[in-house]
Amino acid sequence: MQESLLHRRIDLHTHSTCSDGMLTPTELLAKAKEQEVELFSLTDHDTLSGIEEAQIAAQALDIKLIPGVELSVQWAGIPLHMVVLGFDKANDILESVVSSNQNTRLERAKRIALLLVKQGLPDLYEKAIEEAGPSQIGRPHFARVMVREGLVKDENKAFDQYLGNKRLGKLRDVWPNIEDIVPALAQTSCDIVMAHPKRYPLTLTKLKRLMAHFSELGGNAMEVSSGNENPQNVRMLESICRDLALNASVGSDFHGPYGPWCQVGKFTPIQEATLSPIWHKWL
Ligand code: AMP
Ligand code: MN
Ligand code: MN
Ligand code: MN
Repeated sequence: MQESLLHRRIDLHTHSTCSDGMLTPTELLAKAKEQEVELFSLTDHDTLSGIEEAQIAAQALDIKLIPGVELSVQWAGIPLHMVVLGFDKANDILESVVSSNQNTRLERAKRIALLLVKQGLPDLYEKAIEEAGPSQIGRPHFARVMVREGLVKDENKAFDQYLGNKRLGKLRDVWPNIEDIVPALAQTSCDIVMAHPKRYPLTLTKLKRLMAHFSELGGNAMEVSSGNENPQNVRMLESICRDLALNASVGSDFHGPYGPWCQVGKFTPIQEATLSPIWHKWL
């Protein structure tokens, strides 16, 4: 089947300085405009704090903004990301998950610093907290400090050598279980999207099991394409998406203007006509 490019530019997965992105919400929306994006969502990790600024910028640029957030969750001890979209301003359940995850991020940062000390690095806690400032602290802030301190060559190396899930194995079990979050959220008005499903350490069989379970819990969509995912993987995700009658979502997962492979509004093309895109109701 012919791969179809989307008729309209959309991006339903992006990050700003409110979490681990490099641009403020206003700068991000300006990039979106440059890339002729018409439908956009800011989906910072575990925070809604950038949405208001994004909304003001989007309005001025005539871009339709969908409220969004990327929640840290887990399934069977495996950390996962869920993008939640299109929620109402007052969603108590979402707010309580976000606020609890923010506390977890602070506690987790202490544990990350200790685990890095055990790996032979200096105590980077204070510097990472400073690097994050008012943003939601995460491993990328540790990675930036490690580069600045000359402990690693670049952020990728920081993840490879110190911050990857394997290296920080003892950090398991910090996020809420999808079983405790998805059914409650599904009772509210929003779309619940499994983010970048190919990025988890799961065999195809396990991934299918996860997606079926997610759907039974009330999850209604999956991100069939994010960033520069390889086209074969996108075909495979589209197939799971159709089999489970889930809606399809897409996004760049843009964090910063590092290079041409990750731009706002850019992701591997999808077979839109074979899917039930989540965005049709917003266009
Ligand atoms: P955290 O939210 O603390 O679990 O950190 C996860 C974030 O780290 C992801 O959202 C990415 O932005 C970033 N990340 C994950 N893996 C890598 C990697 N290998 N290289 C650079 N950044 C990464
Ligand atoms: Mn991130
Ligand atoms: Mn993610
Ligand atoms: Mn993301």
